[in-house]
Amino acid sequence: MKNKIFHPYTPFSAIEKGFPNMVRGEGITLFDEQGNQYVDMVSSWWACALGHGHPKVVKAIQEQAGVLQHSITGSLTHPNVLALADRLAKLMPTPERHTLFASDGCSAVEAALKIAIQYWYNLGRPEKNWVIGMDQGYHGDSLGAVGAGFVDGFHKPFEHSVLHHEKLPFPKPSADDPDGFEPSRAVIEAHAEKLAAVIVEPLCQGSAGMRIYSAGYLKKLADCCAANDVLLIVDEVAMGFGRTGKRFAFNHAGIDPDLVTVGKALTAGYMPLSACIVKDKIYSTFSDAPEDHTFYHGNTYAGHPIGCAAALAALEVYEAEDTVERAAEMAEKMKQWMHPMAELDCVKELRFLGMIGVVELKPEAKPLIAKIKQSLFEQGYLFRPLGTVFYLMPPLVISDDDLRAAVYALQQTIEDFC
Ligand SMILES: *Cc1c(COP(=O)(O)O)cnc(C)c1O
Repeated sequence: MKNKIFHPYTPFSAIEKGFPNMVRGEGITLFDEQGNQYVDMVSSWWACALGHGHPKVVKAIQEQAGVLQHSITGSLTHPNVLALADRLAKLMPTPERHTLFASDGCSAVEAALKIAIQYWYNLGRPEKNWVIGMDQGYHGDSLGAVGAGFVDGFHKPFEHSVLHHEKLPFPKPSADDPDGFEPSRAVIEAHAEKLAAVIVEPLCQGSAGMRIYSAGYLKKLADCCAANDVLLIVDEVAMGFGRTGKRFAFNHAGIDPDLVTVGKALTAGYMPLSACIVKDKIYSTFSDAPEDHTFYHGNTYAGHPIGCAAALAALEVYEAEDTVERAAEMAEKMKQWMHPMAELDCVKELRFLGMIGVVELKPEAKPLIAKIKQSLFEQGYLFRPLGTVFYLMPPLVISDDDLRAAVYALQQTIEDFC
């Protein structure tokens, strides 16, 4: 069969050769049509926190599919979406929230950007309409999200098609500024009159190459936004539901963000569903008198019943199996096992945040990246390096033995090629 797929995030030179055809997933493993096995070290784009085929989530999807497949959330509701909105509110530091559902991460981010902008419009301050992100932030690939973030390596063709406001610089700690926050404070204070919101990936910029910054920075950012009448949008699409060793990455900073976006692990990667969780001080400015204070925004599959069933089941499993606590314990072990890699010649540095383990190679190792990745694949490990950065982001349910084996395979393979 001719390949008619327009593959996302895929080098076109690789398409000729064809790709492994994954036909089944079980636990941390994907199986191709020849029966070869691959450990999913990227949790299928950071989503499958519970691995593949978890019986409780699968059952919830199957049951819901036989009852109600779709019904909209525009002027209607259904039991799953009611339960999930209530559940998400209770997971926040303060439960006074309403949740707008969407289908994937970028659509939750688009909603967050527009809710933040319309909030100030509703309050009679339409001049506050900028949303700024952090340098090399990633919030999805729709144009609004691309403008709020902007990863040079991905988004250059769209440079002139998106809004370019100033960005918060990536934190560089120093002796007088241990969290590297002061340059960001200067940007926020300079533009406070125009700023609707700031959006960040909490503690770790994923697509930029797993760049990690301190919880202290995030705390100062939240305080600075509050002091300057600027909303804070925390984009938990990649970090939420245990990846960092706490339920949300922002929990490390002890903050209570105005808007939180979630996706990916919300359904443990089993159904496309995302959400924007909004504080009631924002929600309560929306009304239909005047009519332009209504939120005329939505996605066809917002709050999709099967997606919500998957999310409710995933959240239940996270609780029942202590997934987050387990991830925090496992993270310590991963760090120890990875430590020897720091000694390898071509390794620039190691970085860690919860169940994210990062091995950044030196720039001169760039030509080796594709070879290392391919060799690992042939050994049965699916990695997707970002530039010169290899990272481990396995399902949170990975066993000690499997994780140790994966770390060892990565170490050996880097050693072989460097
Ligand atoms: C993946 C990601 C998104 C976009 O999610 P999609 O489901 O791919 O649209 C948004 N924000 C962050 C932080 C992400 O990692």
